[in-house]
Amino acid sequence: MKRTDKLLSGLPEKTGVLIHNPSNIFYLSGYTGEGLLLLAPGLSAVITDFRYVEAAQKQCPGFEIHAIRSGVSHAAVAHELLENAGIRDLAVEDNIITVRGMREIEKVMPGIRFSPLDFKVEKLREVKDDDERSCIEHACDITCQAFEYICGFIAPGRTEREVQLALDYKMLQLGADGLAFNTIVASGENGSLPHAVPSDREIEEGDMVTIDFGARKDGYDADMTRTVAVGQPSDKMRKIYDIVLRAQETAQAAIAPGVPTAQIDKIARDIITEAGYGECFGHSTGHGVGIDIHEEPRVSSRSDQILTPGNIVTVEPGIYVPGLGGVRIENTCAVTETGVRALCGASKELRIL
Ligand code: ZN
Ligand code: ZN
Repeated sequence: MKRTDKLLSGLPEKTGVLIHNPSNIFYLSGYTGEGLLLLAPGLSAVITDFRYVEAAQKQCPGFEIHAIRSGVSHAAVAHELLENAGIRDLAVEDNIITVRGMREIEKVMPGIRFSPLDFKVEKLREVKDDDERSCIEHACDITCQAFEYICGFIAPGRTEREVQLALDYKMLQLGADGLAFNTIVASGENGSLPHAVPSDREIEEGDMVTIDFGARKDGYDADMTRTVAVGQPSDKMRKIYDIVLRAQETAQAAIAPGVPTAQIDKIARDIITEAGYGECFGHSTGHGVGIDIHEEPRVSSRSDQILTPGNIVTVEPGIYVPGLGGVRIENTCAVTETGVRALCGASKELRIL
């Protein structure tokens, strides 16, 4: 079933949907420009402006493309289309529209009854189809190839920023359309910051370097972290590496349909806690990846979600010790009919460069 039909089939009869979130618009239509998407039984329309009309026609075959006219807002055009189609009920993205935005919509849509869409598109996006999975796999392949390259680039005297720039350039050169997010390169004691911004710190002999990065390809993201050593690391850091590796591998191996994501989090967390570093693992174990770098399902102790075939999630435990450094190892993983397939094939054994 088409994604738009799937969405409408989950709503009361004769209810339209107005989509603002660009990721949801892309998911449902393939359109990447600015504007709104309006769906209803017998109606699939992109409402945009002059700048994007041609792109929308190319990206969304089967959709009507409407450009706003001077003095007529996107929502007012949507209202005309709804009136023509005889639709009076409209679900809107209650998690996206601001209070001000909703007031403006209500003003130009007299007679329409509004209801919350309640994350229905995000819920569909949790389960990837084969096309989506192959886009993510392609992004992961580029990411892994760039990692092999950067292992030959990292050396004492290089700054974090130099490593970041070389890595970003390599991903784009290998065919990435962009970056999934801002690359993290954290060396030595900076490794204790899970979301460190690459600095001018020069990498030193004996440092561990954590690199968290991902390519974006055909609208979909990859997410991978590896921590490498430059020269021989201290015994303590090597021990920390082994704990994180065991946590990552054990949690990843437990992924299967029917398993609560909270259990995957617990498996990783228990290993780190039993090794004495529970306080040093302050984030959740993973998250869904797709059109957005962080999406559902969350792999967290607070989540009540159950893994299902088609989910694509990360497993990324870490240990962060202020003043010393940190280790994180992350794979993007596909939940299959029977278990799990890691999409980042790069070895997780400690690399000493
Ligand atoms: Zn990451
Ligand atoms: Zn991640």
